[in-house]
Amino acid sequence: MRALLPFLTLFRRHRWLMTLGILLAIITLLASIGLLTLSGWFLSASALAGTAGIYSFNYMLPAAGVRGAAITRTAGRYFERLVSHDATFRVLQHLRVFTFSRLLPLSPAGLERFRQGELLNRLVADVDALDHLYLRVISPMVGALVTITVVTFGLSFLDMSLAFTLGGIMLLTLLLLPPLFWQAGRPAGIALTTLRSDYRQQLISWLHGQAELRIFGASAQWREKLEQTEHSWLEAQRRQAGLSALSQALMLLIAGFTVIAILWLSAGGVGDNHSPGALIALFVFCALAAFEALTPVTGAFQHLGQVAASALRLTQILEQKPEVSFPDQGPARPQSVELHIHNVTFHYPAQPQPALHNLTLDLASGEHIALLGRTGCGKSTLLQLLTRARDPQHGNISLNNIPLSDYDEATLRNVTSVVPQRVHLFSATLRDNLLLARPDAHDELLNTTLERVGLASLLDDDGLNAWLGEGGRQLSGGELRRLAIARALLHDAPLMLLDEPTEGLDAQTEGQILNLLHEVCVNKTLIMVTHRLRGLSAFDRIAVMDEGQIIEQGSHEQLKMINGRYSHFLSQL
Ligand code: ATP
Ligand code: MG
Repeated sequence: MRALLPFLTLFRRHRWLMTLGILLAIITLLASIGLLTLSGWFLSASALAGTAGIYSFNYMLPAAGVRGAAITRTAGRYFERLVSHDATFRVLQHLRVFTFSRLLPLSPAGLERFRQGELLNRLVADVDALDHLYLRVISPMVGALVTITVVTFGLSFLDMSLAFTLGGIMLLTLLLLPPLFWQAGRPAGIALTTLRSDYRQQLISWLHGQAELRIFGASAQWREKLEQTEHSWLEAQRRQAGLSALSQALMLLIAGFTVIAILWLSAGGVGDNHSPGALIALFVFCALAAFEALTPVTGAFQHLGQVAASALRLTQILEQKPEVSFPDQGPARPQSVELHIHNVTFHYPAQPQPALHNLTLDLASGEHIALLGRTGCGKSTLLQLLTRARDPQHGNISLNNIPLSDYDEATLRNVTSVVPQRVHLFSATLRDNLLLARPDAHDELLNTTLERVGLASLLDDDGLNAWLGEGGRQLSGGELRRLAIARALLHDAPLMLLDEPTEGLDAQTEGQILNLLHEVCVNKTLIMVTHRLRGLSAFDRIAVMDEGQIIEQGSHEQLKMINGRYSHFLSQL
């Protein structure tokens, strides 16, 4: 339950709209009770008055009251739905934006802890589940309490003991049943939340991995696992539905017994009146209608377990502290970049060995460095520290002699162009996939950039409007890398960080791309991670990494001379 508290404070912003919704719900409930009570009494009283009462019985006033209550109930329900749904959607919108804004600064290091399907599930389904809180818990609960008070107070003018009997039974029902169903529904609620998330994740993996699963003949096995989860999920839903039915049946039973009790008690007399006549109908119909206010409450509490589980899952995201934070303002954007990486050590969480260990590397402005090393030696990690996807635990990195952490995010992004090792293709047009690197670029520039990286063929059919990614054209590994290079060229920053940009390219295309890169990177500082030994002579310096450290560095010619641990590796240069 405590998990719900932070969300209740978030609701504060919409408190007036929510209060209006609750007020309208109360008006509707009271009108509904008034309608049944008044019409019950009116019909009985007119029947008792008979034709003799045509002149003595006032038919007009109760009839107008019935009509008034009916109109109030209809109008009240309409506006209550309008207002409370508007309030709910506003709260949901606020919650979603709030959760998303907390997610953004976590990216990418903080998000690695969650799987993608899991994150999406928390952002969509768990936020949605919180709408229960206002619509199904707070509003009916307050409504029921006010109704009990008003009904007891109203009836007490006619008969104190009858009023308190009805009010007492209702209050007892309201206080006892919800906690009972909250406890009973909790295990199923928690199971529903986790199983829904598990099912979606497994379904997404199953869909994504179709090709592999088929090739290795593992599809049936995965399908079976998925079906097991689905089965458990359905089972939890069945238990939940069973509880709902039980709560409704119990409520009907209590209402039925109460009505019989009130009928019996009121038949003995109402107040000082020992032959109450139509007043019996008034009490009985009032009891019948008043229980309507209690019906939604037990059901709501039964779902509260699910809501609390969702709230807890959202809190786990919201409580994450961003590992990297940027100042609001930083130094002005430099035209050229000089980098100093001094004694940097970086440990991935829960990894026994540091990925970078006392690494020192200096880059002069306009220098081009090729970074070589065995797989897993920390090359990509180093580039991640330079983009501040993560921060080192020890040592410092400075850009133009100012600590990297002093730069605000916009300036740092503006100064660096990156080709990451894993390129993401957005499911969007070719134009959109390029514009993200430079939103103001016109089509002509996009076309020439694509031609420069040898991707003019992508323009063949629909030009820049060609749809890429899911639901559209897929790119080969080499095409994807060149698209990333095109993005980096468009971004046009003084520091270029390229992680294996020529991976997957044939020798000829690789040569062309390397020439292009050196041509556009004149006066730019360039770090290029590569496993390929071709074309290294064009770099000012070659640095060799091993186990998170720079172990050798020098010009192409110098390195050829070195007979170190890497002679077998460098002899191929
Ligand atoms: P490659 O040449 O294969 O791309 P690399 O030199 O770029 O390798 P890194 O990706 O920097 O290597 O990884 C360095 C070490 O850190 C590896 O041992 C890797 O398993 C580990 N590592 C990388 N990313 C993570 C991560 N997100 N969490 C934990 N460990 C990681
Ligand atoms: Mg790498």
